[in-house]
Amino acid sequence: MKNKTGNHQNLMRVVRLLRHARPMTRQEIAADLGLSMPTALGIIEDLISRGVIEEAGENASTGGRRAKLFAVREEAAFGIGIQITRQHVRFALVSPGGEVKEYERFRHPFRDETLWYRTLGERLAAFVEGSGLDERLILGAGVSFPGIIDQEADVILHSHVFDLRHVSLDRFHRYIPFPLIVINDANCACFAEQDKDRDSFLYISLNESVGGALMIGRSLLAGNSWTAGEVGHVILYPQGKVCYCGKKGCADAYLNTGVLIHENGDGPEETLEDFFGRLKDKDWEAVEIWNRYLDDLAVLCSNMRMILDMDIVLGGDVGACMDPWIEDLSMRMEPLDLFSRDVDYVSACQCKKHIFAVGAALSAIDHFDERILNLDRN
Ligand SMILES: [Zn+2]
Repeated sequence: MKNKTGNHQNLMRVVRLLRHARPMTRQEIAADLGLSMPTALGIIEDLISRGVIEEAGENASTGGRRAKLFAVREEAAFGIGIQITRQHVRFALVSPGGEVKEYERFRHPFRDETLWYRTLGERLAAFVEGSGLDERLILGAGVSFPGIIDQEADVILHSHVFDLRHVSLDRFHRYIPFPLIVINDANCACFAEQDKDRDSFLYISLNESVGGALMIGRSLLAGNSWTAGEVGHVILYPQGKVCYCGKKGCADAYLNTGVLIHENGDGPEETLEDFFGRLKDKDWEAVEIWNRYLDDLAVLCSNMRMILDMDIVLGGDVGACMDPWIEDLSMRMEPLDLFSRDVDYVSACQCKKHIFAVGAALSAIDHFDERILNLDRN
């Protein structure tokens, strides 16, 4: 007979497999995890009785009996994502499969002050209550924060955006009544981009600032000082434009959204949609700016590919608009990459809505997934 820990581990192996795969038959689950059929059957029964997995149709087999398929129940548990930006906070309630059940955005300019955190806690409580969801089904909450986070010390090491250094995450823990993890924003976005066929890739987040994250075998690479994947500060032009980080010539200085949109003096600020509208109308100035942008992005992607030999996903606000431009970008990369037969490894992100909040919720689900076995579902 298996000891309790071994059984628990096997239960979690099946849960994790089914979260990241398409619905599977008993035989497939057993084969994939190297379990004997009796063990696999026992685990599947146990998970069904706990309300974690359920039948999800039948296999389209070729003749003979059709085999039942199993998947994680969409209502088995939920994660909460909390995105913090300069001016706004966004909440998302997300299922283990990544479906957004409830979403809210409100103005709450960030201040590292008790009142700000207390208000966040109150708004979150109202959000959860308004969703009608049983709170006991929430596995945990993930906070997407624009900064470098030391998850072991539970500290924001620094945030250029908010001009913070060495800030403890105590206040988040005090006012958010769920198991909590605070994560760098680009890392969250990278989480939102995992899919069933891809478990290792570089995510480049093209926003007001440029960030990145490295997903390797469904785990984020942290690095020695929690900055792995920070591609925004790779130098494209030595002695080039000054970057907000203090260095010269960083990719961020050439690829942030501010490079694309017009400064209208005191007038209303141009949006990224305005820019892509002008580009569509073949406004010569927009075309010229975009050509330069794609050339710089091609150099960055090509350099990253050379080091990592992995797929590259372009995300953030610009990445979400990149689908029509991937071919153009790939053609610009071809002369820079003489090692690949085809430049077919760059794509635009698939998650285009609520990217950071969804990613934060999914990271919380991953981080606290063991709680799924023991949630009170009665
Ligand atoms: Zn920089």
